[in-house]
Amino acid sequence: MKIYENLIIGGGASGLYLASLLNAKTTLILEKNAKCGLKILASGGGRCNVTNQNISPKNYLANENFIYNVLLKFNYKKTLEIFKNLNFSLEKKTQFYCKSGSKDVLNTLLNAIKCEILTNHEVTHVSKNLKNNTFEITSTKEKFYCKNLIIATGGISYKKLGATGLGYEIAKNFNLEIITPCPALVGFSVQKDEFWFKNLSGVSLDSIISVNDRFFKDKVLFTHKGISGPAVLNASLFWKKGKISINFAPKINIKNLKNSKKQVSTLMQLPKNFTKEFLHSQNLSDKPYDNFSTDEKAKFNKIFNYEFAPAGNFGFEKAEITKGGISTDELSENFESKKVSNLYFIGEVLDVNGMLGGYNLHFAFASANIASQKINLNL
Ligand SMILES: Cc1cc2nc3c(=O)[nH]c(=O)nc-3n(C[C@H](O)[C@H](O)[C@H](O)COP(=O)(O)OP(=O)(O)OC[C@H]3O[C@@H](n4cnc5c(N)ncnc54)[C@H](O)[C@@H]3O)c2cc1C
Repeated sequence: MKIYENLIIGGGASGLYLASLLNAKTTLILEKNAKCGLKILASGGGRCNVTNQNISPKNYLANENFIYNVLLKFNYKKTLEIFKNLNFSLEKKTQFYCKSGSKDVLNTLLNAIKCEILTNHEVTHVSKNLKNNTFEITSTKEKFYCKNLIIATGGISYKKLGATGLGYEIAKNFNLEIITPCPALVGFSVQKDEFWFKNLSGVSLDSIISVNDRFFKDKVLFTHKGISGPAVLNASLFWKKGKISINFAPKINIKNLKNSKKQVSTLMQLPKNFTKEFLHSQNLSDKPYDNFSTDEKAKFNKIFNYEFAPAGNFGFEKAEITKGGISTDELSENFESKKVSNLYFIGEVLDVNGMLGGYNLHFAFASANIASQKINLNL
């Protein structure tokens, strides 16, 4: 019976980078898909936003101390160091996108790996033999044994890219706490009162969304199902059922609407179809602002603070990440389970959830790097 020193389940961002850092003679990656790194290829619209110059615990929904310590040990420069042979463009002043595309990000990781990778091997079960302190890993094809087991199976969004709930099942079998996984970085579906959004499918506006005392200033995109776009995706990370509010016209000062004979749709300098649909939804006609009655003005002013409760979100199939996952309270600072020695969890399978902007890939790399230091000591 061959016992691998290290076995990594999942050949995505965290698993591949980890493999490149491990010193053991025998490390094995088991990957469900025919190819590793499908989510890396899809990331950043095929251009992979690998990290962010402006990174802090505020960019994550996670245990603040835990993520603070991770970012202290692994800053954005360390992610750029992994890809030092690639060129990046800085977008929105802080986000690093690979100029030559995600394929080169994936190839950089693959080229740095010397260990064995078995693709088309979906792991279905894991157990630990307490007598000889080894893990038994059952895949759809055969059984494997190892000393250190690393779970890098990611979240459960985008099933078509390989996601399975195996990481959570393993945690459950070892009695580790799991924060209920749900879709995040995803659009909102709407209730009846907001069905007018659907008539604007394809229109986008610079807006400010406020949700649970957080503000997101960016584009809101109307779709045939509800709303999406970067401001909405970020808001979805912090939304827990209930109302959100959108300022659809943050650049407009209400003073500039007064004392004018022009219709509001002209003065608002927003896409005209948006202002018209908005007015229609409030039973208002398009006229000069001063011609609105007091009641009508109150209705119109909702354009600056439109409160509503989304019906839900577009679901795991459209969600860029899975919010929730294995609680970081279960882990030591080097990502090893406190309850089960030699068992590690890294990447998106954990309850560390980044906003849009390269924060999730950064965490995948950071967690792998920090875990590797302990795993290498364990040999
Ligand atoms: C469309 C899209 C765009 C994104 N863009 C960005 C971006 O630009 N910047 C950013 O920071 N983040 C982005 N993300 C999020 C980011 O890609 C993920 O957070 C990151 O890839 C997570 O890395 P991971 O290693 O934890 O998991 P993954 O990369 O998901 O890897 C997990 C691997 O485990 C394998 N696996 C799962 N179950 C099993 C099993 N039972 N047996 C064997 N193998 C298994 C999977 O096939 C997969 O290859 C994006 C996500 C999506 C969906």
